[in-house]
Amino acid sequence: MSRCVFHRIREQFDAEDNAALEQLLNTSSHITVARIMTGAGFRMSEHTVRRHKKRDCHCEPVNL
Ligand SMILES: [Zn+2]
Repeated sequence: MSRCVFHRIREQFDAEDNAALEQLLNTSSHITVARIMTGAGFRMSEHTVRRHKKRDCHCEPVNL
């Protein structure tokens, strides 16, 4: 199992962007997050979002 696309995104984002991403993840459905992030240039599927939210991936918790 490896870190998912969210890990790479968090490395690129600054603290403010990461806070917005966390809020998006906490308030939107899987498919909505996938559409928004894909539209922002980070291609991902609904399944990637679901796995990340369930913490089935190996992303480290982000320190805000
Ligand atoms: Zn992840």
